[in-house]
Amino acid sequence: MYYKLAEPFAFRGFKLLPYAVRAERGEHVDDEPIFFDKPTFLELLHCDGEHDLCDLSDDVREVFDDMIKAGVLIKSDNPLEPPKSYQRYKIFPCRYVDKVQWSITGKCNFRCRHCLVSAPDNRHTQPTLEQCLFTVSELKRCGIRKVDITGGEPFIRDDWEKIFDALVAAQIKIGIVFTNASLLDNHVLDVLEKIISDRLSS
Ligand code: SF4
Repeated sequence: MYYKLAEPFAFRGFKLLPYAVRAERGEHVDDEPIFFDKPTFLELLHCDGEHDLCDLSDDVREVFDDMIKAGVLIKSDNPLEPPKSYQRYKIFPCRYVDKVQWSITGKCNFRCRHCLVSAPDNRHTQPTLEQCLFTVSELKRCGIRKVDITGGEPFIRDDWEKIFDALVAAQIKIGIVFTNASLLDNHVLDVLEKIISDRLSS
C-alpha cells in the first residue's frame, strides 16, 4: 500500500517539538499542526508515494486511517506521484510559534486618549523598511505562518505595500490588519482585495 501527504500538508518540526504535519497554505493554514511521537513520525516520513508500506503496526495504521479520513494523507494500491518539494521535512531552529502580531509602526494620525501604545507620540518609534524586510525573512526562517498587522496605524507608512508584498512573497498569511480605517482609499482596498483573492485561490 502506498501513502503520501495530501497537499497542502507538509512535514515540519520545531526545536522542542520536532515531529509535526501542518498545512502550509489554503483553508487549513489556521489549524494547529498535528504533532506525533517519534516512531509514528518516522513511519510517516516513508509516506512518499514510492515505498510500499505493507507491514504497519496496528497503532500506526490507526493513525494513518484517521489522517486519511481528515484529508491529510492519501492512500493508493499503486505508487503515487512524488510529493512537492515544500512538503519535505523541514525543521525550524526555534520554539514552536505559529502566529505573531506585528506592530510595523508606532505612529498614528489619531490621538485617542485610550491608546495603549501612545501612538500619537510615536513612543515605540518605527522600524525602517530594511528592518521590516529583515523581520519578514526571520519570520519565514522561524516557520511563522500567519501575521496580524498592527501599529500605531499601519497605513500611515508610505512603504506599507512593500512590507505586505514581502509577507505574501514569503507565503506568510496576513491575518487581521488593525487600522483606524481613516487612510483606506481605493488603492489600499484593491491591494487588500488582491491579497485575499490570491490567498483563496492558492
Ligand atoms: S487609532 Fe489606534 S493606534 Fe491610533 S491613537 Fe487611536 S488607539 Fe492609538
